[in-house]
Amino acid sequence: MQRFCQNRLTVRVVAWMAVVAISTPLVHPAVAQNSAIASRGAFASGRLVITNVSVIPMTRDTVVPNATVVIENGRIARIARSAGTPPAGATVIDGRGKYLIPGLADMHVHLFADNPAIHDSSGAAELGVMLAAGVTTARLMIGTPQHLELRKEVAAGRVVGPQLWVASPHINNRDPDNAYLVKTEAEARDAVRRAAGAGYDFIKITFVTRPIYDAVIDEARKHRIRVVGHVDPDVGVPRALEGGAQLEHLDSYFEALLADDAPMKTSVTQYGVYQDSAWRSLDYLDDAKIAPLAGATARSGAVIGPTQNVFTTAFAIGESDSTIHNRPDWTLWPASLRDGYMRVRARYWGPQSLQYRTEQRRARFVDVRRKLIKAIHDSGGTIIAGSDTPEWLHAYGWGLHRELQSYVAAGLRPFDALRTATGNSARYLQTNPDWGTIEVGKRADLVLLGANPLADIGNVARIEAVILGGRPLSRAELDTMVTRGQQAVAAAASR
Ligand SMILES: [Zn+2]
Repeated sequence: MQRFCQNRLTVRVVAWMAVVAISTPLVHPAVAQNSAIASRGAFASGRLVITNVSVIPMTRDTVVPNATVVIENGRIARIARSAGTPPAGATVIDGRGKYLIPGLADMHVHLFADNPAIHDSSGAAELGVMLAAGVTTARLMIGTPQHLELRKEVAAGRVVGPQLWVASPHINNRDPDNAYLVKTEAEARDAVRRAAGAGYDFIKITFVTRPIYDAVIDEARKHRIRVVGHVDPDVGVPRALEGGAQLEHLDSYFEALLADDAPMKTSVTQYGVYQDSAWRSLDYLDDAKIAPLAGATARSGAVIGPTQNVFTTAFAIGESDSTIHNRPDWTLWPASLRDGYMRVRARYWGPQSLQYRTEQRRARFVDVRRKLIKAIHDSGGTIIAGSDTPEWLHAYGWGLHRELQSYVAAGLRPFDALRTATGNSARYLQTNPDWGTIEVGKRADLVLLGANPLADIGNVARIEAVILGGRPLSRAELDTMVTRGQQAVAAAASR
């Protein structure tokens, strides 16, 4: 989200190389393996075999029991439906009672290190925390030059973390931090040219008016770079669908659902969610508009990143102090940032605001967002999972697991929820020949779980090992990466 809070971003470059999360480098960089496939992660040399494992290939809603998966030089070489004898010289993982899924993609993340109050030195270790939660691909949604360096270092195997896609600094008209601050269409076009020239993967939009939006879409098309991000009510969903951007947060969908005779035109999108009066608009939503809007979304080909968990928990469901304090995310948050969030949260949930933000309206907020997700999915639209961490006291990986749970709460099958973080994301990033399913030839980005996530999506959190480009990382190693992440963020916050 990176738009409301004190978690503001900055551009400060590279002291982070001093703190590399994990020591052993992988053997060969991405390009050496297969230049025809645009993998952005390194590949481990040698042979790894997982025996007696239940494979969830994610090609369809099925489990392949008692399989043997052979990985050679970082790619899946063979999947056999029998135990067999592991080839000589192979590292063997006993997969008995365990489930193997493709590595997860988190399509909406930021780093603590992006914050002006946090030194860049924690960036690499933060990627390790994501990896420890099964995230083998991540999209950084408000880019910095440091992210471009990290993208390169991960691809070269010098930083052990998820493959990275990096959106540009955000184009907007109010927040100067880590931004292309633009007031005119000419400035907007110039920002798109600079972002494309700098090598960012996407153009990120947050707060822009309709003329600026139109200029960005037009210029981005010329430079063949895709646009992602917010949809301001001034732009609106119909224009956003027509413009071909990838849409985050379900922005402006509530405005699009307002009844024709509603006395207001705006709702809870962007800063609206903080405005008590905007919540009155929840009484004027027309459910009959949900199906046509979802159908139009699907037909347009727009890919939707709802960031449902953060939006519903922060703004409508609410979470108790003890819930927040007792989950692992809390230990990663530096005290300075979490105290700020706790103050914003206390204000947001103050008795004054709850006069307008009634229990009934908050329940409606959650219900309508769930209906939209389900309807977009049922219409054949594409949902991609993004945690929007670290925002609102959620943190890496754990936030993504909750995001997947929120899709099941919206009515998706666990298989379809899991697909938002695997195949759907790989297809959107145009790298589906390389990852997103468990098939021969694919990059061995895999997660070994202690229980079946198709039976209960919550089991995605029961991670026993992660395999990154063929390199196995045990639970103990993953725990170490989390600890190093905590230490690096704490150290970066006090520098
Ligand atoms: Zn965000």
